[in-house]
Amino acid sequence: MLSKIISEKNIEILRQLLNGAENIAIVTHISPDGDAVGSSLGLAHFLKGLGKQATVIVPNRFPAFFNWLSGAQDIIIYEEQNEAAQKAISEAQLIFCLDFNSLDRINGVASLVKSSEAKKVLIDHHVNPKEFCDVIISHPEISSTSELVFRAICRLGYFPDITKECAEAIYVGMMTDTGNFSYNSQQPEIYQIISELLFKGIDKDAIYSRVYNTYSVNRMRLMGYCLSRKMKIFPEVRAAIMVLTLEEQERFDYQVGDAEGFVNLPLSIEGIDISVLVREDAKKIKLSFRSQGTFPVNKMAEMFRGGGHLNAAGGESYQSMRKTLWKLENLIKNRADFESTVASSEVDE
Ligand code: 5GP
Ligand code: MN
Repeated sequence: MLSKIISEKNIEILRQLLNGAENIAIVTHISPDGDAVGSSLGLAHFLKGLGKQATVIVPNRFPAFFNWLSGAQDIIIYEEQNEAAQKAISEAQLIFCLDFNSLDRINGVASLVKSSEAKKVLIDHHVNPKEFCDVIISHPEISSTSELVFRAICRLGYFPDITKECAEAIYVGMMTDTGNFSYNSQQPEIYQIISELLFKGIDKDAIYSRVYNTYSVNRMRLMGYCLSRKMKIFPEVRAAIMVLTLEEQERFDYQVGDAEGFVNLPLSIEGIDISVLVREDAKKIKLSFRSQGTFPVNKMAEMFRGGGHLNAAGGESYQSMRKTLWKLENLIKNRADFESTVASSEVDE
């Protein structure tokens, strides 16, 4: 038996909301990752099994290595299918917001969600969710939203109805948000859930391969280039920063998701416990942060309009690359000051 993480009250409200809704929209965050896509498709499969109409809407495109997931082809990409997204959300009687804690994480989809009169349910694992939903199922202690979706389905009494396709989507989210169970993956119940998913018929080794062993030659060469030419090590503060410019991305025929996971690589170096990937985008600079241990990269990401988890976070900058790097390197070089400031502000809270 899994422990009852989600409150009985929230499960009861969820049950009633599901009873009263035929048409359901599921939205998730910008630059959807495995947990965003996995939790959304997992929930969509479950809802369709209940005879509901369920539509997944994402703000922008997700990496192609999730295309094999059942239902991925039906996902509406707001940036490319504006009208379809608008229609799906305006017709929905119930909206699920998955894997994000604030409306500014869904870009243009936010205004559609805001103006809808449908009831809204948040299922998420980021700290400090904003109050934009009627029901808030927020559990930062759980390592993926996909796991929360699995727990919610079970608590509603529908474990027997979980299909292989639903189980595959949930597994993808659990696997990717823990780096294939190498961080945030200490909770024993994670493995109880994986066991249940295996009994549903998923092939976990094949899923690993489909998600992680899908590099194009260009992507592999870009990774090699980043590691050999672009990785700057700050030994005194046990940190690494990699910077990827637009010109470099063009040189390697960059496709969505091609730099996914690169930020984790420097953490394999003995003694390095903070890693940052700075990637120039058409209109902004995207920063990805990772740490091992207790260094709170979400607090550092907050200095760049972002946030996230203790060990994985992201932010963005609209300043020049030079100014962005100057700010970042200063923060990193003074990590001790940063850590003590964060620690003392937490005491104050
Ligand atoms: P990634 O580095 O893989 O893009 O993001 C890691 C995690 O950081 C995500 O799961 C998400 O929780 C968070 N994150 C990434 N980018 C942003 C951002 O721009 N704003 C906020 N608030 N969180 C972000
Ligand atoms: Mn997540």
